[in-house]
Amino acid sequence: MSVKKIAKKDFVEFVETLIRKERVFGVQAKGDRFDFAPLESAQDLRLDYDVTLQPPKKFFQPPAEVLMTFEVGGGYQSQYDDEPFVLLGVHPYDMVAINQMDELFSQDNYDTHYMTRRNNATIVACDVAKPSENVFASSMGTAVVKSGYDVLLTDIGDSYVCEAATEKGEKLMAAAKKAVPADDAALKSREAVWAKNKKGLNRHELKCDPAYLPKLLAKAYKHPVWEERAKTCFSCGSCNQVCPTCYCFNVQDDVNWDMKTGKRERAWDGCLLDGFTKVAGEHEFRKQRADRFRHRIYRKGMYVPEKIGGQIACVGCGRCVAACLPDIANPVAVYNRLIDDLGIG
Ligand code: SF4
Ligand code: SF4
Repeated sequence: MSVKKIAKKDFVEFVETLIRKERVFGVQAKGDRFDFAPLESAQDLRLDYDVTLQPPKKFFQPPAEVLMTFEVGGGYQSQYDDEPFVLLGVHPYDMVAINQMDELFSQDNYDTHYMTRRNNATIVACDVAKPSENVFASSMGTAVVKSGYDVLLTDIGDSYVCEAATEKGEKLMAAAKKAVPADDAALKSREAVWAKNKKGLNRHELKCDPAYLPKLLAKAYKHPVWEERAKTCFSCGSCNQVCPTCYCFNVQDDVNWDMKTGKRERAWDGCLLDGFTKVAGEHEFRKQRADRFRHRIYRKGMYVPEKIGGQIACVGCGRCVAACLPDIANPVAVYNRLIDDLGIG
């Protein structure tokens, strides 16, 4: 696959061409914050952003979606969103999260709704140009990414290095008529960006190798930190909602007024919300806030890794740190506290 270099002014022209041909979503400023939104002008694209408010998971698993329509006692019609789109500006830690979701949604029960959107997406990732206030991707080994994207952009000053990693990426980059093969100097500049980010995206430093976290949690189930932290938890679920690796959902049938037809919908859910584990008979498995708080940390550091070959399901984006009003959601603060008390090994 090819590695090219394109001057920033020519890149703007390239994005304008894309917008005219494809459905494009890109990172844009919303006041002094950033988020992914439909891109109508290349001038609005901001690849120098720090972090987006919402992770790009919403393009593959929307906050709410109709899975199928049905007739009561009769047939059903699955609903799929198969319109191709281009996603511009996914940071490496979010790309790692998407890679994890791809694995999770294609094992056990293959999720055709998620995978249809995923297969119709062309992802243009971009290396981080400006670290956010709470990022700790360096600690989690997610500051750079080597797979999952179709194109990877790296800002090297007056140009971008563009690596097309798939056929889809090559096809996309074919429209960048002014791109030229990346020379040695450009590749060296890209290496320098990677080296800097591997260390520099680290506003909260984890005191151990992330690979140790499942072992750490194996001895921490009864630790007082869960009660201590959960005392001020509002059970608002914001830490779940902004997390690129949280994928839990609720499914509900909605029967129309005619009592003959209806739809099956699914919507994001969150393990911190009261009622998440409520079942028939009003029984709730994690009624206590401390149990729910602990569960989220265990999902990230132990339960999900067991399903995806040991990968830790926290990519260090730092969004939950910013979203949590009582400032208790930071996984690094919890892990470091456990390390201080329980040690490593
Ligand atoms: S747990 Fe927090 S820091 Fe980790 S991936 Fe989720 S939102 Fe980002
Ligand atoms: S940990 Fe923070 S963000 Fe998460 S539910 Fe509790 S108060 Fe809300």
